[in-house]
Amino acid sequence: MAKKDIDWGSLGFGYIKTDYRYVSNYKDGAWDEGEMTTDGNVVLSECAGVIQYAQTVFEGLKAYETEDGRLVTFRPDLNAERIEQSAKRLEIPVFPKDRFIDAVKKVVKANEDYVPPYGSGATLYLRPVLFGTNPVIGVKPANEYQFRIFGTPVGPYFKGGVKPLTIKVSDFDRAAPNGTGNIKAGLNYAMSLHAIVTAHAEGYDENMYLDPKTRTNVEETGGANFLFVTKDGKVVTPKSDSILPSITRRSLVYVAKHYLGLEAEERVIPFEEVKDMAECGLCGTAAVISPVGKIVDHGKEICLPSGMTEMGPITKKLYDTLTGIQMGRIEAPEGWIYEIK
Ligand SMILES: *Cc1c(COP(=O)(O)O)cnc(C)c1O
Repeated sequence: MAKKDIDWGSLGFGYIKTDYRYVSNYKDGAWDEGEMTTDGNVVLSECAGVIQYAQTVFEGLKAYETEDGRLVTFRPDLNAERIEQSAKRLEIPVFPKDRFIDAVKKVVKANEDYVPPYGSGATLYLRPVLFGTNPVIGVKPANEYQFRIFGTPVGPYFKGGVKPLTIKVSDFDRAAPNGTGNIKAGLNYAMSLHAIVTAHAEGYDENMYLDPKTRTNVEETGGANFLFVTKDGKVVTPKSDSILPSITRRSLVYVAKHYLGLEAEERVIPFEEVKDMAECGLCGTAAVISPVGKIVDHGKEICLPSGMTEMGPITKKLYDTLTGIQMGRIEAPEGWIYEIK
């Protein structure tokens, strides 16, 4: 087997069709045994539940090559558990955790030639998705579903070097109180599209959403959790029922405590406190952490002391340690790295 002839370093974050994907269908109350297929298209009734009422949830994780040439994924068990929570909230039947992990392995193995080489900074991004397939016109859950995992190679996140982001405090909400903000559902992203297009048109990189009930506490952006470092060197991340529990953020809090000896806590963070923070970053699978340089609240600028040219020192340590763990340069906690080959 030989790697595909792709210029890994110049890949962006877009869809490139790979050779194989995993598909399992749910019908008459049970998942079928599932199979690998080369067919990248999904053909559905015009009235399918996913099309009419957005009954769909998804996941995102990466497969990559480590320094010593192993093919691995990072904590896929947590993606399996999270899609289970997401599915339950949208009345979608659960796809079993062991089968989820097995399907991840199958997709990576079958598309081995698309896993970018170590050192390129690129990865094979995996997208599991679970959606209602049969016709639904009266509002109710579908009774047939498809679970699918495909992969697409994506480029290094910090291509031209690290560039801290400028963020706007949004007047839109991404989630309702007691709504679906804590699950990974396409509908949350549909909600966020107008807000992000607006923010980009105004020259911002991202939106900061406040808590939808009181609009006083920090929640997250459209697709990443916040992480702050206080002036006395403590790592703090927002606690809220309406943010998505990022696996990267949870891993970084662990790394802060157990690898860097820092205090780290998840707690409510009033927006009022943000002006006193030393560092700020966005956590998610794609970037691990992208540093935030400036937060703008209706014309009032908060400039993080870490500045607009590099990561803050603690953000950088967190980033280097977690990426070191992922790439096999630093010993991982038990159970974090799933070896595929
Ligand atoms: C996926 C996602 C994240 C990041 O989660 P990871 O598990 O770290 O990739 C954060 N916020 C939202 C809204 C997301 O959908």
